[in-house]
Amino acid sequence: MNVVKKIGVLTSGGDAPGMNAAIRAVVRSSIYNGCESYGIYSGYDGLITGNIKRFYSTDVSNIIQRGGTILKTARSKEFKTEAGRTKAAENLKKIGIDSLVVIGGDGSFAGARLLSQEHGIPVVGIPGTIDNDIYGTDATIGYDTAVNTAIESIDKIKDTASAHNRLFFVEVMGRDAGFIALRTAIATGAEAVLVPEVEIDIEKLNKFIANEYDPKKSGGIVVVAEGGEPGRTYKIAEEVGRLHPDYQIRVAVLGHMQRGGSPNQFDRVLASMMGNAAVQALLDDQKSIMLGLREKQIVQIPLNKTIKLEKSLNPELLELITVLSTQRK
Ligand code: ATP
Repeated sequence: MNVVKKIGVLTSGGDAPGMNAAIRAVVRSSIYNGCESYGIYSGYDGLITGNIKRFYSTDVSNIIQRGGTILKTARSKEFKTEAGRTKAAENLKKIGIDSLVVIGGDGSFAGARLLSQEHGIPVVGIPGTIDNDIYGTDATIGYDTAVNTAIESIDKIKDTASAHNRLFFVEVMGRDAGFIALRTAIATGAEAVLVPEVEIDIEKLNKFIANEYDPKKSGGIVVVAEGGEPGRTYKIAEEVGRLHPDYQIRVAVLGHMQRGGSPNQFDRVLASMMGNAAVQALLDDQKSIMLGLREKQIVQIPLNKTIKLEKSLNPELLELITVLSTQRK
């Protein structure tokens, strides 16, 4: 006999474009497969306070194209405590929700794994974060859209940089990961990229700027990953400016605009596939996994593994920036 499942879904951590498409897919796929669907509001906070609502197919109509998350998101301090997770589990049991889909980043998955371990609640994680810093998946939902947003902005900055021969330091998001910065830098033809994974060497950067191209003739772009310290780009630009008072240096911080906006086709399709695969995994009795994208296929990775291991930047792409921005005669 097929046991009817009650599947809860929540979004947690930073919002990312495509989260709504994932929520829609989880809800519709649950109902399609004869399960009940529940939306949990404000991440793990909603689990703790019981801010949970039965969802029907029409509750997720007309959201696939919207950025943000209709379920809201939060960073919940209380869920990091055992007592908080016990409250959350009790609320789930009260309603009879027997499995959970968590859309978020690695912090959210660490919480999901504990909930599963301590209270035996099956969880499936869907990687939804603009940072793309999750081990076991080539792409996270929202990353592609966020990179495109950064590219669009930098293309505009390049026009003014070139008109005035200014050297721009452009800060992009990514917390302690440089994936957005690296991809954006390649796609915008930036002169250099500074990522948290590689120690910043101002002297080397200065030498490169001075020897390999001339910002006084054509301006230039250095893409900087925020590196968990928003605004640090001002410090870096100041240091370069001290050594090169002849450069016209400017800073642009792209900030939260990178999080918002309509998800592109890649993120919508990825979210739709992962939402459906999450429900299938729960129906197949998976207990503690994350979904990933590997060679265009949706794959399953144990939560344990994805939390423990770190995804690394491709060193060949870092090298590519130097090769392609060097202007030799
Ligand atoms: P993003 O990468 O977009 O910031 P994230 O999921 O990594 O997303 P976090 O703020 O790290 O974002 O985590 C989201 C929430 O997950 C936290 O607010 C907390 O409630 C829960 N969480 C994170 N780490 C743990 C942990 N070690 N134990 C229990 N819960 C955790």
